[in-house]
Amino acid sequence: MVEMEDGSFKPACRSTLRREGEVWYRLIKAAHLSRPEDYFSIYQSGCNHSCLKCHSWDFSKRYNGFWVSTGELAEMAVEYEGIVTVWEPRNRATMFHATDLCRHCGMCVVYGTRGKLCPRKLAKEQVVLSPQGYGPARNIVSFTGGDVVCQADFYADAAEKIKDACSNMWVLIETNGYGLTPKNLDVLASGGVDSFWLDIKAYDEEVYRRLCGTTNEWILKVPELIVDMGFVLEVLTLYIPGWVEVDQIVKIAELVHNVNPEIPFTVLAFFPAYKLSNTRSPKLLEMVNAYFAVKKVGLRNVKLGNCGVFARTQKDWDILITLVGQEAIG
Ligand code: SF4
Ligand code: SF4
Repeated sequence: MVEMEDGSFKPACRSTLRREGEVWYRLIKAAHLSRPEDYFSIYQSGCNHSCLKCHSWDFSKRYNGFWVSTGELAEMAVEYEGIVTVWEPRNRATMFHATDLCRHCGMCVVYGTRGKLCPRKLAKEQVVLSPQGYGPARNIVSFTGGDVVCQADFYADAAEKIKDACSNMWVLIETNGYGLTPKNLDVLASGGVDSFWLDIKAYDEEVYRRLCGTTNEWILKVPELIVDMGFVLEVLTLYIPGWVEVDQIVKIAELVHNVNPEIPFTVLAFFPAYKLSNTRSPKLLEMVNAYFAVKKVGLRNVKLGNCGVFARTQKDWDILITLVGQEAIG
């Protein structure tokens, strides 16, 4: 349910999505080149989940933004394509691979030198300034923020228009997976959606329901479906002390490993937000333990994310890099 401007509540698909004749419209809060993803992110208002830890609650749980049609989204994508500096192959139409290229320090542009963690893969001409800082612009358009993927026709129409209008653009959906039924995946495939960044928020169904307000019953089956249908998949899970810790993260990793051990997997550190503003963030060694537990499952591409949350001093960073290696830091 989304809180409307008059204080009433309406389902997200009836308040932040609409269709007039043949034209779809979506309420969005913003759209720009985002960091650290290094792609064009469309921040949507309205969501089918009600997560206690939502970091975008001010527009995913509230009617907040402006209306755009799928045609207007395609025009934005064309404009963005004009500034693209990195042309990724489809299997890298992910968030996971962004930090292989750049750590967003901006030093190559500002000082003409390289930051300590720079992967040294980009020329400084490929690093551009966006509202969230320096980095490359990759040929990916992503839907993020809220999520009404349960209304797959909108996303299929948007993807089709974006891909028709652009010369070489991938379409990624960042999703909780709730809307990814087999039928909806068919619709999304027909529109040309390329990849999913699937946020599996908990393995335990009871925890999931308390944390997100709904079941995860079919979300746990989604990785296999996504891969079988030829989409690119990456998975993330959030380490939330007292809610989602190593035991559940390992179960999610096992589920992903059973589909394909190469699937990129990110363990993100929670930071206090919304209705979990009194819950602490994980500590450095808790995150390192989670990393090694996931690696032990056999997943080959694993990173830790939101590292600034648990590595706050130079000494923390030195310990982190010594323990997991630079390539494991997302
Ligand atoms: S799925 Fe994402 S946007 Fe939606 S309520 Fe949960 S955290 Fe917020
Ligand atoms: S490419 Fe430039 S901005 Fe990116 S990490 Fe290297 S020095 Fe920093």
